[in-house]
This record gives sequence, C-alpha cells and structure tokens, in this order.
Amino acid sequence: MIAQIETGKTLTDVTEPVARSLTGGGDMREILILHSGGTIGMVAGPDGLTPSDGLLEQALMRIAGEGAAILVEAFDPLVDSAEMGPAHWNRIIDRITGFQGAGVVITHGTDTMSFTGAALAQALAGIHLPVILCGAMQPLNTGGDAEDNLALALRAVQQATPGVWLAFAGQLLPAAGLVKHDSQAMDAFRSIPQAALPDQFRLRRFAQVRLAILTLSPGMPAAAIAAALAELDGAVLRVFGAGTIMSDPAMAEVLAHAVSRGCRIRAVSQCERGGLMPGAYAAGAALWRAGVENGGTETPEAALARLWLELSDAAFSAG
Ligand code: ASP
Repeated sequence: MIAQIETGKTLTDVTEPVARSLTGGGDMREILILHSGGTIGMVAGPDGLTPSDGLLEQALMRIAGEGAAILVEAFDPLVDSAEMGPAHWNRIIDRITGFQGAGVVITHGTDTMSFTGAALAQALAGIHLPVILCGAMQPLNTGGDAEDNLALALRAVQQATPGVWLAFAGQLLPAAGLVKHDSQAMDAFRSIPQAALPDQFRLRRFAQVRLAILTLSPGMPAAAIAAALAELDGAVLRVFGAGTIMSDPAMAEVLAHAVSRGCRIRAVSQCERGGLMPGAYAAGAALWRAGVENGGTETPEAALARLWLELSDAAFSAG
C-alpha cells in the first residue's frame, strides 16, 4: 500500500484548518500534519518567497513511506512565520489535544520557530504523543534541505518520545529552548537546555495579554523602557551578562514602578548560555531590588512563553 494522504479542512481563522487526509480518520497510527507555511512550502513571487498551496501535499506523496496514514491540515492562508502568534498557538494546541492518532508534525517557518517551540513545549508539557516541528531554509523542489527535513520529521513522529521537538538538519532538538542562530545556513538551530517541564498534562492556552521582549543597550534612556512598559502587562528584559544593568537611578525607578503596578518583568541574559546569577555583581542589585524576576537560563522565547502562560492562567481563572 502506498502512503495514504488525506487533506481536509484548513486551519484558518486565524485560520481554520483545511484537512486533506488520505485515510478515513480515527486510525491510531495516523499522523496529523499541520501545515502553517514557511519557506518549506514557498515559491518565488514578485516580492520574494511566498507560501504556495499544495506543495507540501505533493512532496508528502513522494516522501511518506509505504502504509503511512497521513492527514494534512493546512492553514488558510498559509503564512510566513512572521505572522505566527498566540491565536495560532491556541489553534494548534486545540487540534493536537483533540487528536487521537500516533503523532503530529507541524510545518512552520524558521523565523519564529523558536517562539512556537517554546510556546508549545510549555503549553503541551506532559502531552501523550510526539509533536514534531519541521521547516526548511530552502523550499521543496529546489534541491535544498526541505525534503530531508520533512523525511526526518516523518521518521521522528513515529519514533520520538512524547513531547515537542524540532526535526532539522539531521537532528531532533528539544523545542523548549530553540535558538535560530543562523539566517542562511542549513544547520540553523540549536537548543539550549531548559528546566524540566511538568510531566502531568493540563490544558493551557494563551490569553490576550500585552507582552514583549525588551533589550537593554548601553546609553539607553530609561524613558524608552518606561514608554514600552506603560503599554505592557509584562515583559522579558534582556539584561547584560550574568544579570547587570547600567547604574542609572531613573532605570531602577522605572523598573520598580512598573513592578509595583503589577507589570511582570522577567530578566534573562543577552548571552545564549550560562544564564543569570543574582548577587554576582553589584551592578545587578537594582534589578532584584525592583522586584524583577530571575529567568535563570531561560531563552528569551522561553521566558516570554512562561510569562504568557502564567498571565493567561490567571486571566482565565479570573473569568
Ligand atoms: N520567512 C520564513 C518564515 O519564517 C523563513 C523560513 O521559513 O525559513 O516563514
């Protein structure tokens, strides 16, 4: 039997899924492919690469092994991952938690893969099946990395332990701490180890809260951070090294004021590895005095997802 690929409704609405399946559904061995877009399924357009319908499905017909039962649900429209956000994450979470088959592959652009990876790894902690993110630096049918990455994802979804992973450039990486470290090379990702996530699954979704990642830079006016924080319910603050900021009393005051009005501020390091060490430098004391939270070794994306989920839990339980 050749691969059965069925296509159905689409994740539109933010887009409701259009699933196309080559099986009847309800098969415990069935693999669900949620196709959000990204370079993997793009073609050249007048302004550069743009998503194209049907490309992924054609590739799956060629690549999927014998007997594979695959249900493809594509976003309508397919998107560059620059468009991805909490509404898309919720759609993906809802679809995955309702899925009875063997595992899920999510095809996704690489630019915000690390955000979706962190968001899904945390929201789906304890999930009972493998969820494999997949993308490519070059589109399908161009002799690049797309076919290999897709084939790797199809193998991984049948073999990986439950949890959220990225299949990319011959590796299966934990999605919780992804970093896109290269905008051109095929080997574009690494994964920074993150604290263990809960084993017990509980449904978590993303509420409409106002969050951003802010980066300190030498000489930055405190008023710029104040202006940004005034528009936010919380922020990830990328501080220097092991946890330092400039000795500007106005900056300390801005942070303390924001925290005192209930704005969550979670500090992470601008360094990729090593994390924060409160107490190591006097130049960091103002941060902790202001009530800024220690994000430890979290990537900025992981810290953002954590803040988002914690504020969402609070928002949903408040009704
Ligand atoms: N701009 C593309 C995206 O993130 C890049 C990629 O997929 O590699 O959708």
